[in-house]
Amino acid sequence: MTAAPLNQTVRTVLLDIEGTTTPLNFVYNVLFPYVRSHAMQFLAKHRSSPEVLADIAALHQEYMVDLRGGLDPPTLGPDTQDAEIEPLVTYVEWLIERDRKSTGLKSLQGKIWEEGYKNGELQSQIFDDVPRAFKRWRKQGRKICIFSSGSVLAQKLLFAHTQTGDLTPHIHAYFDTTTGAKSDLASYLKIASLLEQAESDIAFISDVTTELDAGRSAGLATLLCRRPGNRPQPEKTHGLIQSFDEVFP
Ligand SMILES: [Mg+2]
Repeated sequence: MTAAPLNQTVRTVLLDIEGTTTPLNFVYNVLFPYVRSHAMQFLAKHRSSPEVLADIAALHQEYMVDLRGGLDPPTLGPDTQDAEIEPLVTYVEWLIERDRKSTGLKSLQGKIWEEGYKNGELQSQIFDDVPRAFKRWRKQGRKICIFSSGSVLAQKLLFAHTQTGDLTPHIHAYFDTTTGAKSDLASYLKIASLLEQAESDIAFISDVTTELDAGRSAGLATLLCRRPGNRPQPEKTHGLIQSFDEVFP
């Protein structure tokens, strides 16, 4: 169904990234391959930094869980300072292939992307209607927040390095899976409480119906965003938009 206009009392627009502000292609054809091709070099250079060591330790823990769970992960050596990097990279690739959302992986990915954005090798992609919607919504006195399974660091980097420049000054708050899963009603209650907003004064926009169902169960207004390259979704239950131009025009 086409979207009915959102209630004007909505004060906050909560946005998903992949498939909503940003083409899925960018994530799967640019960001993930970048980690695959740069993980070895990055780990060789930074493996002794405490933050990277913490990521490596988290990956080792995850490996043990995969091993015990009979998932047959590629063999990872012992968790020592002088351990080989190559098995670690192979395991990271294995996790990426499975689209794993674990905190250790997300944290390491964020650091690798950070280096890429900073040295100019990476530039993020957002849909054309996004920057003008950000300006418009802010002019209307609305807050823009992000809820994505990418880490908060990765979210900030993405919006700081778009083809139209730095959009982070428009963004009020970022939420990732440390707040909760996107398909869990409780995550949306928590976000509303952290923002000190009534649930019904928040509009959540995503390309995935199960996330919208959770948001709506928590009392948020919801819109399904259909973008080129998105995976098909049941379209009968949430208002449908194809561009942010349709939202608070
Ligand atoms: Mg999405």
